[in-house]
Amino acid sequence: MGEIIAIANQKGGVGKTTTSINLAYALAHLDQEVLLIDFDPQGNAGSGLGITVAEGEKSVYHLLTKNATFEEVIKQTSNEMLDVIPTCKHLAGAEVELVNVRGRENMLKEALAPLRKMYKYIIIDCPPSLGLLTLNALMAADSVITPVQCEFYAMEGLAHFMGTIHKIKQFLNSNLKLDGGVLTMYDNRMNLSRQVFAEVSRFFGEKIYKTPIPRNIRLAEAPSFGQSIFDYEPACRGANAYIQLAIEFMARRGANMEEYAGYNMQNAEAYNYDFGG
Ligand code: ATP
Ligand code: MG
Repeated sequence: MGEIIAIANQKGGVGKTTTSINLAYALAHLDQEVLLIDFDPQGNAGSGLGITVAEGEKSVYHLLTKNATFEEVIKQTSNEMLDVIPTCKHLAGAEVELVNVRGRENMLKEALAPLRKMYKYIIIDCPPSLGLLTLNALMAADSVITPVQCEFYAMEGLAHFMGTIHKIKQFLNSNLKLDGGVLTMYDNRMNLSRQVFAEVSRFFGEKIYKTPIPRNIRLAEAPSFGQSIFDYEPACRGANAYIQLAIEFMARRGANMEEYAGYNMQNAEAYNYDFGG
């Protein structure tokens, strides 16, 4: 059975979408079958991979509201191990439309149930809010990864968000676990970055991902070409950081990644992939 992972933080612009796209792609690169779900009406996860939804075409909104089958909404990407379900502008209205629907918080979970068998990992890019969409993602998810931007205000709202995760786990989805925090837009030349990393690490304890994602202009440029960093500039620091993050992610799930310690996009050819079941 595949694992569903929500990439969530109610704060905007912290790197949720960049992490969703590039973690998904890095896992696909490591031979894992991955489905990325663009669950933000802004549609950046889909467009960042060059996937757009034409007028009249169906999206995750139609899947959510039972107006489409998953076959109708799954799109292939340039990596055969990675599929995407894009979003569309109608998703923005879903929070209001579903207000009186019973079980409205479980609709994504129901929609994704048959897909668990088809993918090893299903990654959900959440919108920057704690509304019904994010709640649906957290009800569907087995685990949550929270990107935290490396800035002076990094901790702002973080305790509140984690409190919400805790309440959802306690009262609504006992299956949910906090997988970890990922520091994004890290600049190791700045004292502030090191201080923030230390503070965020203290907050997450052993759940902090050891790999901070560097501030890397290539990561910011890639989406405007509709490409993951692995298509756009596979040898850059940003790409290698997301590969390291994916290796850490898989190690946390019991895969033996020890021999991959020195793995990067430059020497990738020298490794033959065999991560077992
Ligand atoms: P939103 O809350 O609006 O959905 P988000 O949390 O999904 O935002 P992103 O869209 O991933 O955040 O990133 C915000 C901005 O920062 C984008 O312009 C993105 O290109 C840029 N960015 C993200 N990560 C990095 C990075 N490591 N280095 C440089 N720029 C980055
Ligand atoms: Mg986003």
